[in-house]
Amino acid sequence: MATADIILTPTVSIPEHLVGEVQSKLAYVDEAIVSAAVAETGDQITLHLSQPEAAERQAELSEKVQRVVTTMVRGAFKPKVQVLEDHLDRRVPNRADPMPELLANGDISQEANGIYSLGPLLTRLINYFESQFVDLADSFKALPYRFPTLIPARYLERVNYFRAFPHSLTFATHLREDLDAIDHFAQHAVCDEHGLNTPPESFAKIQALLSPAVCYHLYFALADKPLPNGQLAATAVGNCFRYEAINLNSLERLWNFTMREVIFVGSKDYVLENRETARQRMQTIFEKIGLAYRVESANDPFFIGEFRKQAAFQSAFQLKFEIRASLPFKQSTLAVGSYNYHQDFFGRNLNISLPDGSPAHTGCVAFGLERIAFAFLAQFGLDPTGWPASVRGALNA
Ligand code: ATP
Ligand code: ZN
Ligand code: MG
Repeated sequence: MATADIILTPTVSIPEHLVGEVQSKLAYVDEAIVSAAVAETGDQITLHLSQPEAAERQAELSEKVQRVVTTMVRGAFKPKVQVLEDHLDRRVPNRADPMPELLANGDISQEANGIYSLGPLLTRLINYFESQFVDLADSFKALPYRFPTLIPARYLERVNYFRAFPHSLTFATHLREDLDAIDHFAQHAVCDEHGLNTPPESFAKIQALLSPAVCYHLYFALADKPLPNGQLAATAVGNCFRYEAINLNSLERLWNFTMREVIFVGSKDYVLENRETARQRMQTIFEKIGLAYRVESANDPFFIGEFRKQAAFQSAFQLKFEIRASLPFKQSTLAVGSYNYHQDFFGRNLNISLPDGSPAHTGCVAFGLERIAFAFLAQFGLDPTGWPASVRGALNA
């Protein structure tokens, strides 16, 4: 009997520390894949397909999966995970998944995969966490900025984003300035279950994308000139977009999410010292909230071909640390924020110079607002009577 599952043995066994990374990339292998799982032991991959496929297509899928595995695994070495703080043993009252109750109560509603509206409960909770992050920014006298949701393609090109993260890009376009194309669209555009049916030639060439991060906009604003005063602390909140395909999942992984960042631009010491001070100040804030989490070294989700080299580089130079909050209902953790140091990558590529003529260093502290609220609810439940007094008080709940 035809089956819609393909079970594969990887040509190289996947080491434990890469199981999650490989699995997340299988989302981008082929449109026929509905879900994919790598066994914890790293020696088996199961692909669930939307429908049974002929032998030839199955072989093609297998080849693509093997290509992902060999590219990511061959020559990879296990990074030493550095733990800066560990408060995962903090006792929290809730063990249930908050999603079913949030949906049933109308506290959130799903517009599409990875796209949610948030009602008053989550909005108030996010406002409270935001106020804590803004206090952090104020403690550095960070200057406030507002950035657009769109980001020009040529900007992302200048910082090598297309090569590093092509899989998660979201493109913005519009109809060509052409009466016939616009009239045709107005008369014939219809949505089916796959999306909007429109001839691709109706659309203009892509000039802009939906922004994947907040701090990039600041670096672009500072590009091609000396940095005034030689240092800058800034803060902004913004919509961010990362297309995470079949990995889009509950409030944990959204296509459209919000990030608050505190950003430092200056000398190496200035950036590294402030990143560390920010971490220490956040430690006090998370303690007051009662969050169970740990801070450990991590790497960015680079695409397959870039992954091995870039991830090794990031971990060798301790460029990224994630705040990973416990999700008791699935006995795992979720990154609710990160402490990042980019060395002089943006300073060099965007020509931001310090008073001595050398390129500026940059770093950012980034918080995912939906994720911090979700992790809080996963740990404390939806009933405010079970919440820490500090959070309850701030919400008048
Ligand atoms: P992950 O490891 O979960 O893929 P990331 O390493 O890509 O996240 P960063 O680039 O460090 O995340 O972004 C900063 C923060 O933004 C993350 O810690 C997280 O809280 C939030 N974030 C990132 N991607 C998403 C997403 N798809 N949905 C919701 N929040 C997100
Ligand atoms: Zn950033
Ligand atoms: Mg990460």
